Amino acid sequence: MIAEAEKILQTYYGFPAFRPGQKETISNILELKNTLAVMPTGGGKSICYQIPGLTLDGVAIIISPLISLMKDQVDALNSLGIAATYINSSLTTGEQQQRIQDIQANRYKFVYVAPERFESSYFVQLVKRLPIALVAFDEAHCISQWGHDFRPSYRSIVPNLKALSNIPVYVALTATATEEVITDIQNLLHVDHEHVINTGFERDNLAFHIVKGKDKQSYVRSFLAERKNESGIIYTATRKQADTLFDQLTAKGYSVAKYHAGLSEDERKKAQAAFIQDEIQVMIATNAFGMGIDKSNVRYVIHYAMPMTIESYYQEAGRAGRDGEPSDCILLFSPQDIQLQKFLIEQSLMDDEAKRAEYRKLQAMINYCHTHSCLTSFILEYFNDTHGKKSCGRCSNCVNRTDRTDMTKEAQMILSCVKRMGERFGVSMTAKVLKGSRDKKIKDFKLHLISTYGILSNYTEKALTEWIHFLIAEKLLATEEGRYPTLRLNQGSVDVLMGKQTVWMYSTVIPTSESADYR
Ligand code: ADP
Repeated sequence: MIAEAEKILQTYYGFPAFRPGQKETISNILELKNTLAVMPTGGGKSICYQIPGLTLDGVAIIISPLISLMKDQVDALNSLGIAATYINSSLTTGEQQQRIQDIQANRYKFVYVAPERFESSYFVQLVKRLPIALVAFDEAHCISQWGHDFRPSYRSIVPNLKALSNIPVYVALTATATEEVITDIQNLLHVDHEHVINTGFERDNLAFHIVKGKDKQSYVRSFLAERKNESGIIYTATRKQADTLFDQLTAKGYSVAKYHAGLSEDERKKAQAAFIQDEIQVMIATNAFGMGIDKSNVRYVIHYAMPMTIESYYQEAGRAGRDGEPSDCILLFSPQDIQLQKFLIEQSLMDDEAKRAEYRKLQAMINYCHTHSCLTSFILEYFNDTHGKKSCGRCSNCVNRTDRTDMTKEAQMILSCVKRMGERFGVSMTAKVLKGSRDKKIKDFKLHLISTYGILSNYTEKALTEWIHFLIAEKLLATEEGRYPTLRLNQGSVDVLMGKQTVWMYSTVIPTSESADYR
């Protein structure tokens, strides 16, 4: 049967060979094994369910939370001469009914639907009577509560579907899935371990960069001036940030579009269309923009502030370079970003357990912004992806790896300060003590009396904060998760304190007392 699939790949799609993971996914599905495919954005997930959909008898149902993408997918199939349609809230009731009738008359091979469709028992009954080839869950991480874009309504339809006896096989597809999400999807959809196809996440055309200690607005302005004719997205953490940046850039004569959930549908549609059609090169947006935007020539994605999780960062940054061409993913970090994300977690309606999980993810994101190791490897390790090489050679940490300085002595001072403070305080208090700050809280806790008070007073508090984060990121210091996490020593700290481990910092990222950026 796989030979037939290969033939379809060549004749219908015109591609000479499968990409990594496609063949395995397709043959699992053809053997009617529930399958989970984790492949990077642009990896070619659609073909994984489309080819089996063409091979197996009956109609393939694809459930997708991305209404904006359905039409594109359907148009693409229609242009290949394949009968496909979609049903979602963008259609009138009349149109929906017409399409349902056509589905009943077996006029389609592929039907794309939004998850909400399965909340209607009428639709579930309709599906029950159809000959079904497969049911695919696109963006499957959204059905997991551990996913970064959990949609409870997507998850809640799973039991309705599993109750149907005429669905021969389920397929789940996603570009981002941690171990937790993978296990969750496996349990929900009954996917055996050997039917999880995980090709790894590495997108080797993407170069990741962290930019710190710069004025963000002027950085963006000079960046845009340099990369004039390229398409790019600038993600902000809040709508307000998007509005402000939009106004600032527009006032300076830049042609930019903006997109966030506070705008009217019409405004959003216009902005999106202008960007997709290359009328406007730069899109300033919150994370409301992008899910389902299939624009292949995005040359850069700038994050104007640190996002909350590596999952969402990788997904948003991953909208760059879908065409495989070299592209940049730049994160502009400032220490205030951490406070903002904590504030957003506190403001959310999540229960305490969910908040704790979110703080844990946030800590990983903070670590990403402070590590001196390869950024690509950091991300891949976060997703437990062991496919990647040790260092990518493209990211800002790999490229900046020129001369390094032995900072073991300073690290020992910081670590012993944490110890002397009784491992009861967080990053900012520790930085204050090292600096010798006259902050009232220091006196209240009598921290000005300990021997490490002011021991690194020739550095700014900001620089010291940066170092502490660096030690955490390099696992040389532990921190708890939460709003006010306290610092603790770990085995790495002990090794540094005992002189068993040297601490190197790369000079380009060492904040010094002389550096204007850190004053
Ligand atoms: P994903 O959903 O994983 O982000 P798509 O399914 O949209 O990716 O595929 C990305 C691009 O790669 C599409 O333009 C698709 O036609 C192309 N593609 C998919 N499979 C192959 C293949 N085997 N050979 C060449 N191109 C492919």
